[in-house]
Amino acid sequence: MLERFFPNMYVKSIFHLNVDKLIKKGIKGILVDIDNTLVSFDIEEPTDEIITLFSTMLKKGLKVMLISNNTKERVDLFNSKLNLKTIHKAKKPRVINIKRAIKMMNLKNNEVALIGDQIFTDVFGGNRANLYTILVQPVSCKDEWKTKVKRGLEKKVIRKYIEYKRT
Ligand SMILES: [Mg+2]
Repeated sequence: MLERFFPNMYVKSIFHLNVDKLIKKGIKGILVDIDNTLVSFDIEEPTDEIITLFSTMLKKGLKVMLISNNTKERVDLFNSKLNLKTIHKAKKPRVINIKRAIKMMNLKNNEVALIGDQIFTDVFGGNRANLYTILVQPVSCKDEWKTKVKRGLEKKVIRKYIEYKRT
């Protein structure tokens, strides 16, 4: 029942991902959430560390796209130094724009990983679209109010997930 909220992988941050291992699993494309996955929602631009990580991913042959529920202005400004393909107002956990992203990358759903910090938008949406879902810990404890209300319940699901992984 709760399993549809469980990610395939849970890591401390996007920098803790083993990119080569993902590629070995058959992952060819990565959809990345922005707010609190890469930076706090009030930080406008990517850090140098993020720019380097994405260029490493691209060099290894991965396709990388940003997929955010935030506005066009937010996503475009964040992307100005990255020049990735993007989807704003993605409405995750709805699958319509996730499916559109897969199409834009010209990949199949089992070749795509979705990385995000929220269970009920990123992980649930990615699972519904049959992607490989990767949950990261939020980079900041600052959240928009609409996210804040979900964090309590999210912690409970993560606790269940950790128990489930142990058994
Ligand atoms: Mg987020």
